[in-house]
Amino acid sequence: MNIFEQRKEKEMKIAQSMSKIKYLLAVGSGKGGVGKSTVSANLAISLAKLGFRVGLADVDIYGPSVPTLFNIENEEVVGQEIDGKLSFHPIERFGIKLMSIGFFVDSTKALMWRGPMASNTVIQMLSETLWGELDYLIFDMPPGTGDIQLTLSHDFKLSGAVFVSTPQQLAVSDVRRAVNMFKNEGVNVPVLGLVENMAYFTPKELPNNKYYLFGKGGTENLAKELDIELLEQIPISEDISEANDSGNPISLIVDSLEGNSFLSLARKINEKLNNNIK
Ligand code: ADP
Repeated sequence: MNIFEQRKEKEMKIAQSMSKIKYLLAVGSGKGGVGKSTVSANLAISLAKLGFRVGLADVDIYGPSVPTLFNIENEEVVGQEIDGKLSFHPIERFGIKLMSIGFFVDSTKALMWRGPMASNTVIQMLSETLWGELDYLIFDMPPGTGDIQLTLSHDFKLSGAVFVSTPQQLAVSDVRRAVNMFKNEGVNVPVLGLVENMAYFTPKELPNNKYYLFGKGGTENLAKELDIELLEQIPISEDISEANDSGNPISLIVDSLEGNSFLSLARKINEKLNNNIK
């Protein structure tokens, strides 16, 4: 097979595996540790709460979090041979179809991977998973602007991307680079907006108060500068962190401040995609 035929075959494989999925949504960030996986997981649960069929693909090779966030670290991915080709069944939790690169690679070694090798593994995982019919497939991306982000935005027809940042200046300037990469003409993925995580703190005994621990206005100003919307501000909370550690993301709890914030984010994203708003 020559290089053009190989390329064609890869494109066909991707198109076929994604053919029953309505929206492919990337969740990105400028740097790690800002809450990108927390937002991806809670967004997945919130979209499912709104009645959508949802899948979550964890392609963050530098720090796959989905196995911990959904407490599926000890699960085994089951393969099945279909027409002579091996495919994988996603793991289901809380009605969400989950797959993580963490099941396939040793993340302590991922940093040493050369770009094309890592992105080929990601593409293989995504296109060999039996996603079935979905309204949303969320990609929990690696932070930054590397090879995987470029490959995914190029080879998968992403419906949109949202970016997570914290209020600190450094996180904000990193996210600027990531947003610009997606907006770039060669990539051209609609950037739906920014999510500010750990935006404020509300003590339980003072539910009407908001304390802006890491400063106020940074993400809002960046959104204005980049001409995109600040979609949601998510509070910093011990409950979010505990829920993450227990493998039961906060959005599973009915009517919490944090859960409502993620639900509002899910509604906005869905509205934007439905109305084709950029
Ligand atoms: P990323 O995917 O950007 O690397 P994570 O979602 O893994 O970030 O979050 C990093 C750490 O911060 C985790 O320990 C997580 O539980 C915690 N965390 C994320 N968002 C919040 C929040 N809003 N409040 C409290 N802790 C949070």
